[in-house]
Amino acid sequence: MIEEILANLYKIEIPLPQNPLKSLNSYVIKNSGRNLIIDTGWNQEECKNAMESGLKELGINVNKTDFFITHLHSDHLGLVSDLATETSTIYFNQPDADRFKSGFPWDDIIKFARLNGYPENELQANRQSHPGFKFRSKENLDFYILKEGDTLSIGDYDFKCVETPGHTWGHMCLYEPIKKIFVAGDHLLNDITPTIQLWSDDRNPLKEYLSSLDKVHGYDIELVLPGHRSIFRNYKERIQELKDHHQKRLDEIISILRKGRQNAFQVASQMSWDIIYDSWDLFPVSQKWFAIGEAIAHLEYLQEKGVIQRESQEQRIVFSLK
Ligand SMILES: [Zn+2]
Repeated sequence: MIEEILANLYKIEIPLPQNPLKSLNSYVIKNSGRNLIIDTGWNQEECKNAMESGLKELGINVNKTDFFITHLHSDHLGLVSDLATETSTIYFNQPDADRFKSGFPWDDIIKFARLNGYPENELQANRQSHPGFKFRSKENLDFYILKEGDTLSIGDYDFKCVETPGHTWGHMCLYEPIKKIFVAGDHLLNDITPTIQLWSDDRNPLKEYLSSLDKVHGYDIELVLPGHRSIFRNYKERIQELKDHHQKRLDEIISILRKGRQNAFQVASQMSWDIIYDSWDLFPVSQKWFAIGEAIAHLEYLQEKGVIQRESQEQRIVFSLK
């Protein structure tokens, strides 16, 4: 479960039971002064046990430990409320901290999903089953806000903060320019594709994400430490693959809209998803939820580009080619 990656830098694999992500990579930097834990896992039992036994094995005293959280999602932030002590500093970014403070906006999300054609009978079911909601950080947390270019120094590591919005509002990575390591959170993953979803009409996360990919492409990196699955080196190739993946989705949506005006739920049901179920109707609620959020992010991108238009029709948002 524990892997030493570089001197005093370890990876603890935190299980995420019954979730397609399988596990979260928590990175720990051991130091004679204060230690640093990067991302933590959900706020639930299995994650807590894995983290505690990992820290014990590494001889890490949580009373002398600070936290850096790459982004708002509960598999990264959730367990912090349990681990942090009175002396802990929790480093975070402003946009995600603002969302955290305003609470989980379920009512707005459900209203928005309904507008986008999500069937009424499945709307409430998702609320109960959503792991991001169930395993969120339960306490109000105080954050120390970092921004682009700030330095976070622990032992021999001098990390630069790199703002990489897209996967969330304020997603932040860490770059060590001497050791050329890049702590990627969910911005770059090698074995799976970071999800880009939209659940409101006030942003364009895919546009943000693609420009964050271009930004990181310009860095000199030897080793990427992602939030899930395997550590990797070929980041330029991977960035190109991720860009190609989104372009394919955009092309697919355009061909779906050639059949005529549709809402996001209808579009999502015809897109190709890398999922084992035989048909859209067999998708579990959580997977449909993921798919429609992805579809909306891509539709918004095309809309802002002027390729498609968005209209209101019988209390639904519908999209059509221009
Ligand atoms: Zn995430």
